Amino acid sequence: MRRGSCALVSIVIAIVLAGCATPAHVLPDVQPVNLNVAAAEIARAPKPTAREISDTKAVARVAALYQQLKPAAIAVCRYVAEHSCKWELTYSPEEEVNAYAADESTVVIYKGIVQYARSDAEIAMVIAHEMAHHIANHINESQSSQVVGALIGGVAMTLLLGDAAAYSGQIVSDGMRIGAAAGVLTFSRKQEMEADYLAAYIISRAGFNLDDARGMLVKLGRLGGRTSSSVLDTHPAGPERVAAWDLAAMEIRSGSPMPRKR
Ligand SMILES: [Zn+2]
Repeated sequence: MRRGSCALVSIVIAIVLAGCATPAHVLPDVQPVNLNVAAAEIARAPKPTAREISDTKAVARVAALYQQLKPAAIAVCRYVAEHSCKWELTYSPEEEVNAYAADESTVVIYKGIVQYARSDAEIAMVIAHEMAHHIANHINESQSSQVVGALIGGVAMTLLLGDAAAYSGQIVSDGMRIGAAAGVLTFSRKQEMEADYLAAYIISRAGFNLDDARGMLVKLGRLGGRTSSSVLDTHPAGPERVAAWDLAAMEIRSGSPMPRKR
């Protein structure tokens, strides 16, 4: 579809983070040796491949995982106490390995995440990561940021899951939720690490396996450098995330009930 040629055009405002907010949590202290081990693992990992799935099935899966995550996310959110603990989940049928958080409560998961995931935990990790951007108030932290440009096109069709995640089977074709109001934020590296850190607590509390979930981070690392215009633009992929995830998993398994605050 040629840009600008379609009636279902959405405007996505790209906002670049200008400030650098300090994370409110003690993030995993990744050492060079951890990075090297993670980098080697990513290099050895098989090339990620997509599997066919219908939008109906993908939406149902994302919605179910979101419901499973929600009580845990609310618990972590209330503990963190930085933002309202409400999210609106949206599914995009674009076959792109991408996801983002925007506005006050929007979380957008692209079909590509479901296509590349090999376990529920991998998808849950991505959903929890985006929820965590809201939990940690990253978007408001970025309010001083500059609007640097607008992209036309992109998210033309979305399926709204809503809070109840009731899927009507209809495609909302005007992309209203992630239309003009939606912003694609570029978070700072620290904010990304904080979102992963909180996500580890959320998915663990929700009953997902932390080791299974890290498969998504390895995949994103493996995709790094090959894929443009994807989640990799807004999320630092690679060894640092994998290594930090492992340290967070160790912390959780050692009995830490909630993210460590500064
Ligand atoms: Zn992120």
